[in-house]
Amino acid sequence: MKRTESEKTESDITTHGQNPYEIVKSLIKESVTRLGLHENIYHMLKKPMRMLEVSIPVRMDDGTLKNFTGYRAQHIDILGPTKGGIRFHPMVNIDEVKALSIWMSLKSAILDLPLGGGKGGVIVDPESLSDRELETLSRTYIRKITPIIGPQKDIPAPDVNTNPEVMGWMIDEFDQLRGYNIPGMLTGKPIIIGGSLGRLEATGRGVVFTIREAAKELGMELDKSTVAIQGFGNVGSMTAKFLHELGVKIVAVTDARGGIYREEGIDIPDLLEFVGDKENYASDYPHADAITNEEMFGLPVDILVPAAVENQITKETAPTIQAKILAEAANGPTTPEGDKILEEKGIFVIPDILCNAGGVTVSYFEWVQNSMNYYWKEEEINQKLEEKMLFGFNTVFTMREEKKCFMREAAYMVGINHLVKAMNARGWVK
Ligand code: GLU
Repeated sequence: MKRTESEKTESDITTHGQNPYEIVKSLIKESVTRLGLHENIYHMLKKPMRMLEVSIPVRMDDGTLKNFTGYRAQHIDILGPTKGGIRFHPMVNIDEVKALSIWMSLKSAILDLPLGGGKGGVIVDPESLSDRELETLSRTYIRKITPIIGPQKDIPAPDVNTNPEVMGWMIDEFDQLRGYNIPGMLTGKPIIIGGSLGRLEATGRGVVFTIREAAKELGMELDKSTVAIQGFGNVGSMTAKFLHELGVKIVAVTDARGGIYREEGIDIPDLLEFVGDKENYASDYPHADAITNEEMFGLPVDILVPAAVENQITKETAPTIQAKILAEAANGPTTPEGDKILEEKGIFVIPDILCNAGGVTVSYFEWVQNSMNYYWKEEEINQKLEEKMLFGFNTVFTMREEKKCFMREAAYMVGINHLVKAMNARGWVK
């Protein structure tokens, strides 16, 4: 198939065998205790309210039938319909999808979006499929989860290795099944069929807003700062673009195949043009030296941005980190052991459930525009995104000051507090 930006860089990075569902459960438990809440809150939040496993038979190009496995998790819908992306990756598993759905609930809660958390995934290496096989897989998956999704129920979106093209096939399949056009059934669509301006850039743009705020707090001057980015898919590349616009020097970028390093700074517009050719990988860019993923973590940079998959900042990689800010553009990039080391080193962590929440925020704006059937200008969307990200950052930062804790703990406490208010309002807890 013709590879897209995210597909060609994020598919092979291994996830170091840690279970993200166990990690998120223990983080929730700690926050519930720290907030002095009843342990029943933990039991309500620790598992998705609904979990679907589907088989996805696909007729392959050689005539054989292959049966793939997919999931959709819906965590909690007390704030609004559940919402979250669909991931195509060989490492997808049921616990990963559950964890990702919980993270979605927390992101929406922190940014005060009227949405719950959901997530989907299919165990597949999309690079091993032809265009036709990928389209069939996408359409069959959405057919299989159709009974539990919809604009008022659960709204999918892109995630690792899925993109507007895949969303286009999925919404087309859903509309054909239902018999009419339902633009708000998923987000991250191509603009022509109801996608939002600014959605493609939203996660990276949001990451950069949070980095800008963190730098202000730490008294760092961004135009004198350096950054290394792990992953050059949609999120990594957009983060690079917006950091470059603020004058940050991007010295290293890695992807699933390797990495590049240039002490004087990589020419980001040129690199973006290079990877714009779908056959090129960032790691093949000729005007820089080669670097490994491990070497990249230990570079003497001011900011480090993991923008790939889970469990990359571990007890092995964390001790080498020299950055002052770790901006978690990926979901779950840091293991608990890695986190302890970051805390001891005094690194300012912008936790994933805050840092990368710009994607779901503009997805929310897309869904709102779909329901009005009236579309905003990009400027308006970017301004609303900035407001939401600043609100989230300031709320978490204030909680950190109040509780004298780390940013991750503060983010969990803000998210859980918000969900508990909704439980209260519904009479679930007294
Ligand atoms: N997949 C993205 C995330 O992890 C975006 C989800 C959405 O837009 O609904 O936040």
